[in-house]
Amino acid sequence: MPDVGTLNGVPVKDVQEEGEAILHVLEGALPEGKVQGRVDWEVRFDHMQQHTGQHLLSGAFDQVAKAMTVGFHMSAEYCTIDLRIPALASELADRVEDLANRVVFEDRPVKVLLLSREEALRLPLRKRPPDLDVLRVLQIVDFDYSACGGTHCQRTGEVGLVKIAGWEKIREDVRVEFLCGGRALRDYRWRNASLNALAGELSIAPRDLEPAFRRLRQEYADKGKRIKELLEEALKYEAERLVKETETAGSFRLIVKVFPDRDPEEVKGLANRLAEHPGTVALLAATRDKANLVFARSADLGFDMNALMKAAVSRIGGKGGGRPNFAQGGAPLSPDLTTLLSELGKGLR
Ligand SMILES: [Zn+2]
Repeated sequence: MPDVGTLNGVPVKDVQEEGEAILHVLEGALPEGKVQGRVDWEVRFDHMQQHTGQHLLSGAFDQVAKAMTVGFHMSAEYCTIDLRIPALASELADRVEDLANRVVFEDRPVKVLLLSREEALRLPLRKRPPDLDVLRVLQIVDFDYSACGGTHCQRTGEVGLVKIAGWEKIREDVRVEFLCGGRALRDYRWRNASLNALAGELSIAPRDLEPAFRRLRQEYADKGKRIKELLEEALKYEAERLVKETETAGSFRLIVKVFPDRDPEEVKGLANRLAEHPGTVALLAATRDKANLVFARSADLGFDMNALMKAAVSRIGGKGGGRPNFAQGGAPLSPDLTTLLSELGKGLR
């Protein structure tokens, strides 16, 4: 990533290399003559911290785990290195992090060496340098040599904390995300605030959050299961009550109900329970945000619920269907749904 800044006050949008030339793409025209450039120091320093941190981390991975860095990516939010290793264990990542940060704490000098290729190749370079006659080698004293053209800190202490944020397997490599210096501080800040807020909600210490969360999730699952069992039971009793309350007229009892505030699945369950009672036709609807219709009849009756559903939805502009004993449909809300269902039910007599 290039520097950000201005040339004579005109913001630079992009920087590209073209042969020997370095092209600055500006947001506006630049008058002829002498030009003064100004680098955005905050962005530059951030890049220096991430770049130098990358050398520290790659060096530490090389020394602790014999893991070679085969790729480096930096964006405005995060940095990654790709390591040529099949997997990474947490314990190993911790050891690498410890070494990188020890070198930070020791505040070692970071030097830029301009060397001929021959001279450079005599150094214990961590990776093969590019094919150039003159090489720019970054030396972290008594720790690491690596050819690099980037911007770096002058001492390892300037890098600040080097933190591995996570990793994932990418084909034959492991991609490690990391943060250095100001980025690590900002990352720590929001994570700390987030953990403190969550722990505060539960009135526990942040360190106890993980077991507490697992316990809550288990309780939630257990409760969900229990609610389902109780609902089944409640629907059975509700069906019995409705059957008792409804007089049989002609050859069957007709139960018509529209529920404005119930879950369609629950109403479907009720229809099924009702159909277990001989001589019963249930025409039900749940009308929370649309009309969910469910028609069911007991096995001893011969009416066609599928045909009845098709008749119903054609009247109110919906869709639906099913089997002769059970059918479902959906339609926009309509104010006289109860009347419609009653009419259809009485039509069966
Ligand atoms: Zn570098």
